[in-house]
Amino acid sequence: MNGDVKMRAGADWTRQYDLERMNRHEAAEAFARYKTAIFPIGATEQHGPHLPLGTDNFLARELAFRLARRVGAVVLPTLPIGYSWVWRDIPGTVIIDQELLKRIIKNVVHSLFRSSGIERFIVISGHGANSSAMKYAVRELVDECPVLCYRFTYPGVTETAARHARTPMWEGMLHACELETSWMLVVRPDLVEMSKAVREYPDTPLTKAYHHSSVPMGALSDSGVFGDATAADAERGEVMLQEIVEYMLGVLESTGNRS
Ligand SMILES: [Zn+2]
Repeated sequence: MNGDVKMRAGADWTRQYDLERMNRHEAAEAFARYKTAIFPIGATEQHGPHLPLGTDNFLARELAFRLARRVGAVVLPTLPIGYSWVWRDIPGTVIIDQELLKRIIKNVVHSLFRSSGIERFIVISGHGANSSAMKYAVRELVDECPVLCYRFTYPGVTETAARHARTPMWEGMLHACELETSWMLVVRPDLVEMSKAVREYPDTPLTKAYHHSSVPMGALSDSGVFGDATAADAERGEVMLQEIVEYMLGVLESTGNRS
C-alpha cells in the first residue's frame, strides 16, 4: 500500500459506519454501540440528460452517512430500486411496487431487531415516490416490534430551496432540477454532465391533471427535467445538504433522540 492509498483509507470516516465493509465482529460491536440502523433507499430511473439513473441512490447514501456521523449508527447497504411508476416506459427504469417496498423495509427492521438488537431504525429515501411505502411500513412496525422508526425524504426541502435555490421548484416537487443537480455536484461530480443540463418547467393542460389523475410525470416533460438544472451549484448544494441533515437531527431530538 503506498502512502496515498493509506492516507485516503485513513481519511475515510464512512468506514466505521458501513455495514457492507464490516466483518461479523465489527458489526456486532457497531450495533452494540449505536443500537441504530440507517437504511438508504433510492431508485433506478431517468434523471434527465445530465444525471445518472442512480442519482437517488447516491444522494440517499450520502445523507445516511452524514446522519450516521452525527448520531452514531450503522448504515445498511442501499436499496437501489424503488417505486418509479411514472417512468415505467423510459429505458433503464427498474420498479418495485409499493407493497413490496413496504415489505422489504419491514423485513429489514424485523431481521435487524432479531440479529442485532437495534432499538432505532431510520429509513432515508432519495426518491419521493417511496414515501408512501415508508409511511405505512413504519406505522405497521410500531405495532409489531419495539423499534423506534423514522422516515425521511429530503425533510424541510421546500424551505431549504426557498432559502438557497436560485430557480423555483416545479409544482413544489424536485426531479433532476437545480436541487438534485446541485447535490450531485457535491456527492458525485464525476457523474454530472453540466454541458447537457437543461431547463424545463412542464406547463401543459396535463400538468394540472398530474396531481388529480393517473397522468404520469413521464408524460409531462420532454427532457425528464422538472425545473432548471442549469442553475445548479455545488456550493449551495452543500449548504442545502447540511440543512437537510440538521432537519433530520431536529426530528430525532424532538423525540428525545432516544431509542
Ligand atoms: Zn431523483
